[in-house]
Amino acid sequence: MAEGGAADLETQRGEVAGLLKTQLRKGDTWYLVDSRWFKQWKKYVGFDSWDKYQMGDQNVYPGPVDNSGLLKDGDALALKEHLIDELDYILVPTEGWNKLVSWYGLMENQEPIARKVVEQGMFVKHCKVEVYLTELKLCEDSNMENVVTRRFSKADTIDTIEKEMRKLFSIPDEKETRLWNKYMSNTFEPLNKPDSTIQDAGLYQGQVLVIEQKNEDGTWPRGSSTSKSSGASTLSTLPKISPSSLSNNYNGFNERNVKNSNYCLPSYPPYASYEYPDQSRSSERPGLCGLCNLGNTCFMNSAVQCLSNIPPLTDYFLKDKYQEELNMENPLGMRGEIAKVYAELTKQVWLGKYSYVTPRPFKTQVGRFAPQFSGYQQQDSHELLAFLLDGLHEDLNRIRKKPYIPLKDADGRADEVVAQEAWENHIKRNDSIIVDIFHGLFKSTLVCPVCSKVSVTFDPFCYLTLPLPMKKERALEVYLVRLDPLAKPMQYKLTVPKVGCISDLCDSLSLLSGLPADKMIVTDIYNHRFHRIFASNENLSSIMERDDIYVFEVAVRRIEDTEHAVIPVLLREKYKQSGYNHTSTPLFGQPFLITVPRSISEEKLYNMLMLRMCRYVRSTPFQEESEETCSSKEHGINGNVSNGVLEEGSPSEMETDEQDDESSQDQELPSENDNSQSEESVGGDNDLENGIGPEQTTKGHQSEGQRKRLFTFQFNNMGKMDFSYIKEEPRQIRFDEGNLRLSDRSYLSLDWEPELKKKFFDESAAEDFEKHESMEYKPQKKASCKLKDCIELFTTKEKLGAEDPWYCPNCKQHQQATKKLDLWSLPPVLVVHLKRFSYSRYMRDKLDSLVDFPLSDLDMSEFLINPNAGLCQYDLIAVSNHYGGMGGGHYTAFAKNKDDHKWYYFDDSSVSPANEDQIVSKAAYVLFYQRRDTVSGTGYFTLDREAQEAPSSQGTAAAAAQSSEDLNENDGDEQEPGCDMTMSTN
Ligand SMILES: [Zn+2]
Repeated sequence: MAEGGAADLETQRGEVAGLLKTQLRKGDTWYLVDSRWFKQWKKYVGFDSWDKYQMGDQNVYPGPVDNSGLLKDGDALALKEHLIDELDYILVPTEGWNKLVSWYGLMENQEPIARKVVEQGMFVKHCKVEVYLTELKLCEDSNMENVVTRRFSKADTIDTIEKEMRKLFSIPDEKETRLWNKYMSNTFEPLNKPDSTIQDAGLYQGQVLVIEQKNEDGTWPRGSSTSKSSGASTLSTLPKISPSSLSNNYNGFNERNVKNSNYCLPSYPPYASYEYPDQSRSSERPGLCGLCNLGNTCFMNSAVQCLSNIPPLTDYFLKDKYQEELNMENPLGMRGEIAKVYAELTKQVWLGKYSYVTPRPFKTQVGRFAPQFSGYQQQDSHELLAFLLDGLHEDLNRIRKKPYIPLKDADGRADEVVAQEAWENHIKRNDSIIVDIFHGLFKSTLVCPVCSKVSVTFDPFCYLTLPLPMKKERALEVYLVRLDPLAKPMQYKLTVPKVGCISDLCDSLSLLSGLPADKMIVTDIYNHRFHRIFASNENLSSIMERDDIYVFEVAVRRIEDTEHAVIPVLLREKYKQSGYNHTSTPLFGQPFLITVPRSISEEKLYNMLMLRMCRYVRSTPFQEESEETCSSKEHGINGNVSNGVLEEGSPSEMETDEQDDESSQDQELPSENDNSQSEESVGGDNDLENGIGPEQTTKGHQSEGQRKRLFTFQFNNMGKMDFSYIKEEPRQIRFDEGNLRLSDRSYLSLDWEPELKKKFFDESAAEDFEKHESMEYKPQKKASCKLKDCIELFTTKEKLGAEDPWYCPNCKQHQQATKKLDLWSLPPVLVVHLKRFSYSRYMRDKLDSLVDFPLSDLDMSEFLINPNAGLCQYDLIAVSNHYGGMGGGHYTAFAKNKDDHKWYYFDDSSVSPANEDQIVSKAAYVLFYQRRDTVSGTGYFTLDREAQEAPSSQGTAAAAAQSSEDLNENDGDEQEPGCDMTMSTN
């Protein structure tokens, strides 16, 4: 295909490279290309300067574009989940895609994977290719059971969806229709702006949309109260099943107004902006109030419930203290908007009137200031928490004008002095209820590995992000190909260390197979060729889950051996293309490794190859000899094959130990030696100098004993130093001791005539394999660890990564310094973020190991290096949970109610009592601990002091809000003022 139609390689290379640099523009279409195919193409066209020497080689011809690795089995349109840009797929613009397809074609039965560029962010826009489309569930108002799932781009409009739905449900053109957003709570919201996009309308993954047809009499089945133009009263509900609530008309839904007016409404009338499930009920308890899910907003609800259950913070808002401290001018703040809207929400939650509220204004304000939270995609509760704590802090910063304070190095001064100075400087610029409650101080020590410069700084923190001890092992499926040519490859499931080498894989396989690990060679096979041949010291992390790993038993141990060579063998099919002078040689079957004596006759090599393939190459009438050899092999094949092929017994060696230098690392620059071995030098079709071109093998050089052969063979990309022919009859091949490297680039190809292949090569037998019982093993139970292990890991000295170096002021350059963190002082409320999500070049993972954390009595003193730290006993007060995998899942929260001191489980709109033994789970993601000496009414917070000064005005949190509603039956047997312990951020 490349012949004739396709541009020459240099043109291909240049054009695609240029197109890959295309800027993303909203509305443009880009295409996904499986990175495995793309890598092959790069090899073929010599895309990378360091990987040019198989350029143009038909053996690396990539074939039609093949995206099968990206698709879910059995669905030509559905992408696998969690694919990663660059790693799993490459994005190419339309023009680039068209070129690739015109040169190579697209695999049969595959559709192009086209995706639109969409703009993200409400205020700060950036473009992104929307790789994953939004799935919407569509149904008719008259038949909501029949739900059809369709995928849309976020850039598609409501109008597009409506059209699609009309088509889907065969609604006649003349019928008038309306679209509704249906929420889980059986709440309906009209979608009345046909030109707004999915993104603008805030539709999220899995959202149910209902289409409603106008009745014949001109009325609407869902009632006619809402016309398309009216912005008011746009929510309607169906009666709920739950007996506790009857159907209601909600009003006050004004988010759309806010949107329409471009966010010109800076504040909300008190309470009117929240939707209440039932205005008449008043029996709910303060704080035990659910938050409606507005479409994938459980991350927000989880974070808010945790914060809401931090007593000093909630008291501060309920007692309206925030009003005096609102900082409207702070350029880093949100002009008080976040604080106000959060206060509003807190008051609702603690009013004790509602079983749940709908935090729409809060979400809108958050999205206004933090565009990453503006959509309805699933987000990270910890990220939102960090944003919220920051936003609240700046909105409530008591410092109106931040002084400039130059950074001072410790310069050998005592820790106490430097820490004190750092904290005072921090307070001069940052002083708020958030600092009072959440900020602590840690020490970081950096040491330059070159000049030994020590740099000590003390930095404030708002939460601790603790690493989790990594899951140490992973499961890996491999195929073992035995020396015994009659044995089918066997598939094993191995347990290997995550951070380990190929030799660990061999050891693990050795345990299951009984085969010595040093007689194994590990390869990655792709497209009928060796994609890689691994050295034993290579890193296991370069093996991906989807790689096809074949482990070959070789007859020789990996010690210095001068007698044998191990050679990769590929199978090719020759066929002449009419119209062209080229012979195309596509690959087929499984490649394999063969161990041969370093000096061998051509005839014997052929026989050994035939023997190796006897399981799937049918014997021929003129091939009795081979057949005999084969059957005689059935016994005692184990390396010490007596009569015939491997009689030399003393096993030989190949240079697997050094091979990693050149052969198997894609990124390696080829050595000079390798450069000299271009494909022209040896074994090309016209390469007669080696005397083993097809014509000669089949005609001239067959000794009388030789029968007609099924295939010819030739050496590819082997340097002249690697092997040579000894000119005598029968012809002898000699593999040079010093230079032959086991490599995916040097190989022997067996070239088959199509008719012979068809007749004698049994493809299905070649692909046949067996499954070892290990394939049935369930993944191992994951280990658990203690919270203290994580803290210890946090304070463990580490060397900075190469991509994240430190600028040493002494050396005046970036160095991979060692870094050590220590805790100096801890805040009244310690927020602990467990780093469950890990992102790296090759892995994106959620660690779902269990972290065992104490519900009470967490003693942090052992981790504090401040000798005067004082008391630091902590009790757990809240937990944000995350269930499920990356990029999705569900968030909930556990929290202890400050009034009744019992634990509750908050799951969006529902709140239920919880048992203490439920709280420690694999889902725990962010933990909130309160220091013992700061528990309610300790006199530390200004609020407390005021409460004590004027005992009559004490009351709960909720009371303030309640009084304004003139409803006070929910007493607050709130805090006992009195415990008079003073505290400080120690
Ligand atoms: Zn230095």
